[in-house]
Amino acid sequence: MSLDALREEASVCTRCALSQGRTQVVFGNGHPDADLMFVGEAPGFHEDQQGIPFVGQAGKLLDKLLAGIGLTRADVYVANTLKCRPPGNRDPLPEEKHECEPWLFRQIELIKPKVVATLGNHATKQLTGRETGITRVHGQPQQVTYGPLQVTIFPIYHPAAALYTPAMLKVLEEDFAKIPALLAQDVAPAVPPVAEAAPEPEPAAVQLGLF
Ligand code: URA
Repeated sequence: MSLDALREEASVCTRCALSQGRTQVVFGNGHPDADLMFVGEAPGFHEDQQGIPFVGQAGKLLDKLLAGIGLTRADVYVANTLKCRPPGNRDPLPEEKHECEPWLFRQIELIKPKVVATLGNHATKQLTGRETGITRVHGQPQQVTYGPLQVTIFPIYHPAAALYTPAMLKVLEEDFAKIPALLAQDVAPAVPPVAEAAPEPEPAAVQLGLF
């Protein structure tokens, strides 16, 4: 199956109630074989209108950050955890994320990126399979296995959160500067298929916190 065929399939998705309020499905865009993929939260007003992720203010910041590491949107692939806009831009609901998740995993499967930068809490938790929040894990690459695919998940702050918080923007810029080195790393060998994401064990500090 090609990414275009998957887009076609997703364009008529009715797996959750968000399908009733959308203008269109915002599947994702960019290079279909990108080494670097970004996953945000969900389409907002402008994304729902235009059918393209990150076209608003947060998208402009993403473009600027990309330019800082010598890349454009045409070099990368950008998608969201949810493909349809939640009303009033509210947070995604667990059942919406659950229903929409197969589209995202199939996108990753087809694009086969080396690095997936997760923007903010929702994408980070979904793609690492852990509940540890973005404030603790940003800037720390994690090796994750999706089926036969070994991917580096790189959690970073969401550009929308950094727009109005200079301190967060500085951290986002610093984390972004680490991306070229992650892309330059050797591709990990393919591993036997597993059913779901199999993240590494929690860091010791997190485990200790349980007791
Ligand atoms: N636009 C998107 O497409 N996704 C976000 O998470 C925010 C803005």
